[in-house]
Parts: sequence; structure tokens; C-alpha cells
Amino acid sequence: MKIQIIEDLFQIFFPKLCLICDDQLYENEIIACLICRHDLPVLFYNDASDNEILRKFNGRIPLEEANTLLSFTKEGKTKKLIHELKYNGNENIGTFLGNWIGELLFENKQFTEVDFIVLVPLHPKKLKKRGYNQLTKFGERLSFYLKKPLKQNILLKIDATKTQTLKQRFERFENNESKFSLLNTTLFSNKHILLIDDVLTTGATLEACSKELLKAPNIKISILTMSLAS
Ligand SMILES: [Zn+2]
Repeated sequence: MKIQIIEDLFQIFFPKLCLICDDQLYENEIIACLICRHDLPVLFYNDASDNEILRKFNGRIPLEEANTLLSFTKEGKTKKLIHELKYNGNENIGTFLGNWIGELLFENKQFTEVDFIVLVPLHPKKLKKRGYNQLTKFGERLSFYLKKPLKQNILLKIDATKTQTLKQRFERFENNESKFSLLNTTLFSNKHILLIDDVLTTGATLEACSKELLKAPNIKISILTMSLAS
């Protein structure tokens, strides 16, 4: 009883706010108010084996299936949500989006052939600074809905090698001074990997990750993102 009073008082002075519009949330609302949630532009494809994402990667990397949850625009609500997730410590947005797309995947029987779920890795320095990979909670919910394990610390983001020619140094500079590295090619050989990321823009990151994953013999790759930039 006493605790409830304290909680109610706390709520009066520090009300929980919608992370998108800053309006006060009702007791049963989490992350976003009902209005904002309703306004989020859902893009989910009913067909994961023939859609805009697969066409985007056509001729770049071989993909089995691909899908996304939301449309990401410059001034839109998705951008606000992803920004809160990545730069404002609101890690639970990953759970919110993971539950949402997890239910859609389950209903539509998509990605059922996947063996492992893999996150686009963060560089260790960035991970230390942020305190979390913004994809971890999202990946955990996908793992729950697809009933497939999340494999972390197998695909890594590392600094590019220090011994290099001047020409390589220029290339390295353009390449963000880091690259992806697959620690164990045997574990992923003959396996189907679901690679996940937050925003799909040009696809350069997912392409670089996939090229590294393709070092595992006979690997299959599918892609799932929280959002697709338009
Ligand atoms: Zn709102």
C-alpha cells in the first residue's frame, strides 16, 4: 500500500513520457503512446522472398529472405525512435520493436529455416561508450519468437590492420578505419544466418558483414532490419 502511494507520487512528479511525442503515457502504455504507435509507418512485407530489400541487394550478395518493420524517413517518427534507442539510452525500444516484428514473423511463418541469429557488431570502443549494442534486445526477442539461438561475438568489428601501404591507408580511411571479421567459419558452415541491423540505408554495412559471413562454406544469409530508409 505504502509503495503504491510512493509510486503514484513519483508518477505525478516524474511522469513517464512517450519517447516520440513527449506526451504523458497512460499506465498501460510503454515506450510510445497509442497515437504515436498507430502513426508509426509499418512497412513489413508479407512476402520475405520477393520484395524491395532483396532487389536492393540483387547482384551484390546472395540472400534467401529479407524483411523490415518500419519505414524510416528524415523527419519521421521512426527516426525519433531509433535515435532514442541508439543515442539516449532507451535500450528497451529494442524489446518493443522485437516483440512487434516477432509476432508478425510468427503469424506469417517467415525465417523458419534460419539456424542462427547474428547482430551487426559494434566496434568495442563504441560498445563501451554506449554501454550496449542497440540490437541485442531486438535480437533476443527474435530469438524467442523464431526459437533460434542468438550467436554473439562470432562476427566482430575490428580495427583494420596497422601494417599497410600508403594506398591501403587511403582505402582504410574511406572504409571507416574498421572492418568485420568472422572468428569461426566452421560454426556457420552449412548454416542459415539471419543478420539483423537497425536502419537499412544503402546496405553497405550489411553487404560488408555478409561478405565476411560468406567465408563460411555453404552459408545461407537472410536479412532483417528494424527499418528501411526511403
Ligand atoms: Zn506519443
